[in-house]
Amino acid sequence: MDKVCAVFGGSRGIGRAVAQLMAQKGYRLAIVARNLEVASAAAGDLGGDHLAFSCDVAEERDVQNTFEEMEKKLGGVNFLVNAAGINRDSLLVRTKTEDMISQLHTNLLGSMLTCKVALKTMIQQQRGSIVNVGSVIGLKGNSGQSVYSAGKGGLVGFSRALAKEVARKKIRVNVVAPGFVHTDMTKDLKEEHLKKNIPLGRFGEPIDVAHAVVFLLEAPYITGHVLVVDGGLQLVI
Ligand code: NDP
Repeated sequence: MDKVCAVFGGSRGIGRAVAQLMAQKGYRLAIVARNLEVASAAAGDLGGDHLAFSCDVAEERDVQNTFEEMEKKLGGVNFLVNAAGINRDSLLVRTKTEDMISQLHTNLLGSMLTCKVALKTMIQQQRGSIVNVGSVIGLKGNSGQSVYSAGKGGLVGFSRALAKEVARKKIRVNVVAPGFVHTDMTKDLKEEHLKKNIPLGRFGEPIDVAHAVVFLLEAPYITGHVLVVDGGLQLVI
């Protein structure tokens, strides 16, 4: 049976590095993001028979349609990576409600929706593996990121509960929780200052996280696990 993986947020950053690593390992990939042009370029760069799809994970109908299209074009998706995410960092008292909603919809509800739809096929096939990309901030909290932390912390609770729910169907659910990683999301941060607090002394690269994601996707006896990939940051914050 083909190894087919949908990578939500696979057009850029961490998701893109995951897709690159998985393509090298022989998976067939669906690269999913809102911007189809960027997703198509990322899928094209992989070489081989990979496809791009446009989808907003926060929209249930969009997620359902995208999975239907993926099934038609790629066959059943048996691996799922949720790396779509946004941040709208600000102190809570200054955070607009619309920014709270968009972060929770994309970072938490979005992963719930993709998991829910993906599980239909995985349960039929009695096989599947899901990795949700959380954040060390969801475990430790950070000033200016309360809503982001809530979404990412919620993702851990969701993933662990779901791991229990579907284990008997031979489906595994795990979380990778990165620290600071060089992507568009972190390009405006004060790196020189922040990296002083990281025991390994540097920001991570997307490929550092991708190795952890692919490890958990393939680890046959690990489920409900949270793998922190942060250069030791969680030890000191
Ligand atoms: P990037 O901003 O580089 O990439 C985000 C990806 O998510 C893009 O492919 C983007 O494509 C997609 N995306 C965003 N919103 C949506 C949406 N509503 N529907 C579908 N796709 C969407 O981010 P990173 O690679 O840095 O982040 C990946 C994940 O890792 C996120 O969940 C993030 O929270 C998490 N993370 C990142 C850290 C970091 O330091 N970079 C640290 C800890 C966690 P498009 O805009 O076209 O939709």
